[in-house]
Amino acid sequence: MKRAAIFLSVGLLSLGLVSRAQQAQPTSSSPWSADITEIRRTAALIPGRKASRINVLKFAESHRTKNFSVKGEPATPSVQARTVFQVVYPDGYVMVDAGMDEPMHKQIGRGAEEPYFAEQARQVDRALRGARAIIFTHEHGDQVTGVIRTPYLAELAPKTILTRAQVRTLETTPQFPDLRITEEQAQRYHIIDYDHYMAFAPGWALIKAAGHTPGSQMMFIALDSGREYLLIGDAAWHMDSVRKVSGKDAPWIVEDTAAVGDQLKWLNTLTKTENNLVVVASHDDDEQKDLVARKLLGGKLE
Ligand SMILES: [Zn+2]
Repeated sequence: MKRAAIFLSVGLLSLGLVSRAQQAQPTSSSPWSADITEIRRTAALIPGRKASRINVLKFAESHRTKNFSVKGEPATPSVQARTVFQVVYPDGYVMVDAGMDEPMHKQIGRGAEEPYFAEQARQVDRALRGARAIIFTHEHGDQVTGVIRTPYLAELAPKTILTRAQVRTLETTPQFPDLRITEEQAQRYHIIDYDHYMAFAPGWALIKAAGHTPGSQMMFIALDSGREYLLIGDAAWHMDSVRKVSGKDAPWIVEDTAAVGDQLKWLNTLTKTENNLVVVASHDDDEQKDLVARKLLGGKLE
């Protein structure tokens, strides 16, 4: 059936009957939309016990005034937490993002002297080695360096799950030259691809969310308790971006601002309508302290 459909569209193309808009890549990120009902349905596709809890660990900080994270905010001091997440299942855990070494932290800090917590970074490495799988909100240095420049590459690569879009960025336009991988190197990792949503594990759906980067994805995770989480990566650096539907204003970051704007609107609506859903921004230090204090996130890796 699929084959016939492909031949048919090729035939139409050669006849000039398919418009340019219909030829557009399905990965085109704007306008971006998502449907929480479809996402919940996708997350329920894989049978098995759901995760019991999610932990967060901060291994470094960037100190950037608020106006960079949320356009229109004053230049007041603000901490960007550099974090990884650990999703704990009864029979193992999955790491979301892999952290980075200190040289990458310095590179991202663009000359600023900022805290890097060596003991926590060692805990990240330990957790990566113990994980069943490692998956990424996006392909920036503070997420992927831990599986690209690591002494444990041979051990980590086979359980490192990258999307084709993330690999494409790393191969062609990495955030920093030393993150670049070849297609041959990419083949050491486990590469996946999907259109909108993908069932990843019991209770867990991946949501394609190109915008901050071409390979950005959000993660919807329903716990065994029934509580739901949405890990949004860097769609917003601070939850005030979601509350005010106002994106970043950081000249060093090039985003698909239309797609990110759509994502902020969607997230804003979710935070107002979904009382059982905890929306978690990777770098929001204020939010993470609050969620750990309320026991909605665990504050250490296990
Ligand atoms: Zn990022």
